[in-house]
Parts: sequence; C-alpha cells; structure tokens
Amino acid sequence: MDLIEKFKKYVGFDTTSSENVKNDKASTDSQYALSEELAKELTALGGQNVHVNRFGTVYGFFPGQLKRDPIALIAHIDTSPSASGKDIKPRLIKGYDGKDIELSKGITMKVADFPTLKDQKGDDLIVTDGTTLLGADDKAGIAIIMDLIDGFVSSETPHGPLEAVFSTDEEVGVGADHIDVKELKSKFGYTIDGGDIHYINVENFNAASMEVTINGRSIHPGSAKDKMINAINVGMEFHESLPRYMRPEDTENREGFYHILAFNGNEEKVHMEYIIRDHDLNRLHDKMEYAKLAGRRINDSFGQEVVEVKIVETYKNMKAEIDKHPEVIEKIEKIYKELGIAYHFEPIRGGTDGAVLTFRGFPCPNLPTGGFNCHGRFEYADVTQMKQIEKILAKLFIA
Ligand SMILES: [Zn+2]
Repeated sequence: MDLIEKFKKYVGFDTTSSENVKNDKASTDSQYALSEELAKELTALGGQNVHVNRFGTVYGFFPGQLKRDPIALIAHIDTSPSASGKDIKPRLIKGYDGKDIELSKGITMKVADFPTLKDQKGDDLIVTDGTTLLGADDKAGIAIIMDLIDGFVSSETPHGPLEAVFSTDEEVGVGADHIDVKELKSKFGYTIDGGDIHYINVENFNAASMEVTINGRSIHPGSAKDKMINAINVGMEFHESLPRYMRPEDTENREGFYHILAFNGNEEKVHMEYIIRDHDLNRLHDKMEYAKLAGRRINDSFGQEVVEVKIVETYKNMKAEIDKHPEVIEKIEKIYKELGIAYHFEPIRGGTDGAVLTFRGFPCPNLPTGGFNCHGRFEYADVTQMKQIEKILAKLFIA
C-alpha cells in the first residue's frame, strides 16, 4: 500500500469524537476500530511494545539501527464532531488544474472562497464529495507516519529510534490526557497535525473559559418600573461592554478575542459561555480582568450582585517552554533548509495536544500534514505536500 492507499483506508473508518468526553474510555467506541487496525499494522511492521490503551491511544516503538535519541511522532485518530465523518468518499485529483472543483452535483469548491487552492495548481489533491469532512485532520498525519515506517522497514534503511503515538479525542480537547508521557522513551516529539507544508507551529493560544450568570428579578411587566431586573437585557449589556472588535470574526494572527458560545435563559436567569484567547499571557490576563470589571460595574449600577463572572484558565502557549529546548526546532529548520522548502512560524489560533505535552515537560511543536479546510465539507489533502512532509520527517531519523 502506498501513501494514498493508506490514507484512503484510514479515512474509511468513521472516527468522529464526541464533546461528551469520558474518564475511562474514548468518547466514541468507533475510534477503537482504527486503533486496533493501526496496532495490527505496527505489529506487522515489526514494532516493539505495540499496544492500545483503554482510551484507544496506540503506541509502537521502532528502535532502528542508528544510535541516537528517540523521537516521538504523534497524530490523532479522531475527526472533528463539527462535520460528518461517516461514509467519506475520497476522490483523487491528479495534477490539479487550478480551477474550481465540482465535488458532486451542485457542490463546488471555489478558488475564490478557498484561495490556498491557487498555490496548489499541478499538485495531486484528495477531496470529498462535499457532504462530509475528509479527515485529513489528522489521518493525513497518521498516513504519513505509517508510510514513513513502512518505507524504513521495506527498504531496510538504517534509521534512529522512532516512537509512533496515535491519540484519540484530540478534537474534543482531551487527546493529550490519553497519552502517558512517562510511558514514552522519547524526551521530545512532534505532532503531525498542521496544515500547509510551509508552516511550522511553535506557538498557540493561552486560553480561558468564562461562565457568566445573570440573576434577574422578574415582575409582572405592568408594574415593573424600577423593580424588574431583566436578565436578558443585562446579559446583552454585559456582552456589549466587551470590546466590539475583539471577536474571532474580526481578529487574526496574534490578535486575541472573546468568543461567545452560548446565551441561554429568560428574564429571571441567563447563562452565557465564552472562551477568551490570546497568544500573550499578560494580554489574556488583561482580557480576563476587563470582563470581571464589566461585571462589577454593572453590579455597582444595580447596587447588588446581578452578574457573576467565573473564569478558569484552560491551556497555555507552548512558546516559552519550546524556547527552552531550541534544538527541537533547529532540527526541523535544518531539514527545511537542506530540502530548499520555505517555512514560516505560524502562531496557531487554537491549542494542540503538543502544547499540553510541552507543559508536561515533553517539548512538542506541531508540523504540517498537507491538509486544508479542516473540520468541514471542503476539507482536502494535498498529496504532493504529504509526500514532501514524509521526506522531511524521514530526515529526522536518517540524516
Ligand atoms: Zn487535528
């Protein structure tokens, strides 16, 4: 099986995870089918200590012939619950002509909507039929790692020790919790879970989640004057008091935001949920303080505790930790330079399993997969990039 065949095979497994995470197993049973398959393949390739833990995370160790530090390559099995991952129909387009792509009757992926396509003229792409996601996030990562190992084994290329780790439930935020760093032989690794080949991620958001409860006072509207506290109105006032242009739809690059996820309730009680993000930890703290201040000022205006603001920090930017281990990035930069592939460091506007692992003392930047438009029906994989990424990774172990 070549890289494309492997990718198509993995995409055939429905591994959609669920926000309904569990403490003792994966969020969805369907993920285990691919875990078992990958374990079988790793065993067939001669992997040592191949096993699947109770969360469905797969381990395999390939000691190789060269004496050097082991390196872990990590990818995730699950796909995002944001779009269907069932009955995916991957289609290979050889030598993409640079024009709009008709995915199926009436569903077209337009270059105008997805300008990354402009750079991919001439590449081989794999697309969906426009009704499901593709699962390049992160089965492109898995296929690249499996094909790399397969290549080492079948060509008998002497290589350094490689540890493959395939996690579950990454998309629902607990993938790293399903990986036991103490069990790894490596002291560092890379998640293969990015996008375009030219972007390396060593930076992610600092993150907090905020719950706002508005305790109103409901009274018959006919006699409400100076008595009613309408929780809906107060909730809207609180929301409006947050900086108008610090929203995901108005920010990019290193600009942080407040993002409202839910606004539920009635005039008596309102519950609001937000996430707050910023690459700079001080600026995240400023945003948290500002939201609390808005709550206090509204309470001052009523002379009572109408607004309750609860904020917890959820994950941190890995940059400061990665900077303590410059060799982890230098290795990759050296390979890009040797291969003559341009690269940029792109701050991720999200988190990664690698960020969580980095804070557990296991530096773990994120490398590309060649996948684009993830979590939706227009997801596609650039196979030409996937092959190049495999070459980049190979050099980590043989150069
Ligand atoms: Zn991913």
